[in-house]
Amino acid sequence: MKNVKLKSPKQSSKSNAATVRLARAQRSAYSAAEVEEIFRRFSVQRPEPRGELEHVNPFTLVVAVALSAQATDAGVNKATRALFAVADTPQKMLALGEEKLQDYIKTIGLYRNKAKNVIALSEKLITDFGSEVPRTREELVTLPGVGRKTANVVLSMAFGQPTIAVDTHIFRIANRIRLAPGRTPDEVEAHLLSVIPEAYLYHAHHWLILHGRYVCKARRPECERCVIADLCKFSEKSCDIPAPLVELPPQVVPIAG
Ligand code: SF4
Repeated sequence: MKNVKLKSPKQSSKSNAATVRLARAQRSAYSAAEVEEIFRRFSVQRPEPRGELEHVNPFTLVVAVALSAQATDAGVNKATRALFAVADTPQKMLALGEEKLQDYIKTIGLYRNKAKNVIALSEKLITDFGSEVPRTREELVTLPGVGRKTANVVLSMAFGQPTIAVDTHIFRIANRIRLAPGRTPDEVEAHLLSVIPEAYLYHAHHWLILHGRYVCKARRPECERCVIADLCKFSEKSCDIPAPLVELPPQVVPIAG
C-alpha cells in the first residue's frame, strides 16, 4: 500500500486519516492481479494516452483546465485556439483584459465568472510566482478558480507528476465497476492511488477518462467494445467477452461544431 497524500500539510491530518480509512473500508472488488491486468490492457490499447485539452505551455494549460469546468474539452478547445494565439502568458492575458477575454470564451458556460478568474489568476501568477506556474498542489490551489482537480491535471500534464484528477468519468467508472469505490472525488482519488500499480499510475488518469468518455459511457456503457469486459464486475454489464486487445489509432481530439 503506497503512502497516500491527500491534502496540504495545513489541512487536518485527522481528516486525511479518516478519508484513507473510509477509502480502504470500501474495498475494491478486484485482486491486485486483476487491477494489474486491467491497466496492462489499457496500456496496450493506448501506450501514450494524452489529455484532449489543447495548450501551448503550463500557463495555457491552467487556463484551459479552469475553463473546462462543466464544459466539454472540444468546446474549450474551440474557444482557446484563437485566445492562446493572442494571450499565452499571464502578462498578455492581463493586457487583453476581462472584456475582450469574455468575447473569446463566450461560447463556454459560466464564461463571465471564468473570465474573472483567469484575469485574477494571471495577476497572482505575476505578483506571487514570478509569472511561472507553480509546481506544487499547495501553491496551485491558491490561484483563483483552481481547485484540487485542476491542480492535479496541471501537475500531471504540465509537470509529469503521477496524480489522479477525479472527473465525472473517473468517478463513475471507479464506483460503477467497483474498482475504487468512494462517496466523493477525494475518496475515489485516495482509493485509486492505493490500488493502481506504480508502473501504471502516471497514465492511469488519462486511460480512465478516455475509457469513460468513449466506452464505459454514462448512459449506456458499450461493453461489447470493452477490453476489460471479462474482468469487469459491474452487475449490469451487457457483455463479458473482451474486445480484441489491439493498439488504437492515434487519438484525434474532437472539434466542437
Ligand atoms: S464491461 Fe461495460 S461496464 Fe464494464 S468497464 Fe467495460 S464498458 Fe464499463
